[in-house]
Amino acid sequence: MDDKILVTRSSMPELSEYMDEISDMWQTHWLTNMGPKHKKFQAELREYLGVENIDLFTNGHMSLELTLQAMNLQGEVITTPFTFASTTHAIVRNGLTPVFCDIDPDTYTMDTSKLEDLITDRTCAILPVHVYGNICNVEEIDRLAHKYELKVIYDAAHTFGETYKGNGIGSFGDAACFSFHATKVFNSIEGGAVCFKDKRLGEILYELKNFGIRGAEEVSAVGANAKLNEFCAAMGICNLRHVEREIDKRKTVVERYRSHLEGIEGIRLNIIQPDVKSNYAYFPVVFEEKVFGASRAEVFDKLAENGIGARKYFYPLTNTFSAFNGKFDVTETPVALHISKRVLTLPLYADLPLEEVDRICKIIQECKY
Ligand SMILES: *Cc1c(COP(=O)(O)O)cnc(C)c1O
Repeated sequence: MDDKILVTRSSMPELSEYMDEISDMWQTHWLTNMGPKHKKFQAELREYLGVENIDLFTNGHMSLELTLQAMNLQGEVITTPFTFASTTHAIVRNGLTPVFCDIDPDTYTMDTSKLEDLITDRTCAILPVHVYGNICNVEEIDRLAHKYELKVIYDAAHTFGETYKGNGIGSFGDAACFSFHATKVFNSIEGGAVCFKDKRLGEILYELKNFGIRGAEEVSAVGANAKLNEFCAAMGICNLRHVEREIDKRKTVVERYRSHLEGIEGIRLNIIQPDVKSNYAYFPVVFEEKVFGASRAEVFDKLAENGIGARKYFYPLTNTFSAFNGKFDVTETPVALHISKRVLTLPLYADLPLEEVDRICKIIQECKY
């Protein structure tokens, strides 16, 4: 490996710790299909995330896709385009129509002042995203969902371990979906989870992740294969032991970034939300070219020249994907468009050396003119 700094670096336990965790599998030969590691990992996550009900999936995407299927929805789902492909794809792959709400310029999450106008008699659900670990306006979303009898499914892929007013973030909405992908704050190599309120929904989800199989001789739904295997569960069990310390180290990195970049004209840093225990998932910086001088592209290129991989995340917006053949009108989400053209997420992981943070910030400062 060369000395390039990438935007993230996957957390891993010591090799010996992982070997210990998987060694009994050479006795049991139980490799997948909700084995002992799966059960243990699930119980530990329920505790750590502070939620009532949770089920595990092969990845975050399938947790979203199957949650929508399990709710048996029809019509339109209100969501935001400032997200990863997965969120929008989960809607479309269920035969549902995404309706794009614009984002709040400070939190980058759904702008709830624009939400009610988008609700029609075709609306069946709201799928908001807790972007970069910033929490959506859960109170207002909850209020409107009750008023119009809509389901709420949170894409909580960025918010592992966060709490809002002391409650686990997975406990908001009818369901909240997490991702344990290698690039996230917490990983099980690949993995995901749904936290849910209604136990009946949990039963349907459990069947859907295993082809819809209900019993030895009954297949009750057209499910998929979205089971978390035992090796991934074992990785999750190990990484969970260290996640608090990893988050603390991320905090130190974020504070170092802030100490250098705060107050520079034309640069906007992520807000700090009251009542939220943060996981320091991402460090997004918005470059307002007219004030800062250099554009996002120039900063991106300058960092790349120096072996530093920042990421244009989220760019492009999902409502501009060529996959949708111009079906959506991007001018309906002007704030999302503005941010997506100007944002860079800077390298951030637990073991990122602080001297590298200093170097990255120096390069950014030198771009200003
Ligand atoms: C990572 C991510 C997903 C998908 O999770 P996978 O585990 O990669 O399938 C969905 N939504 C958002 C916002 C994500 O960042």
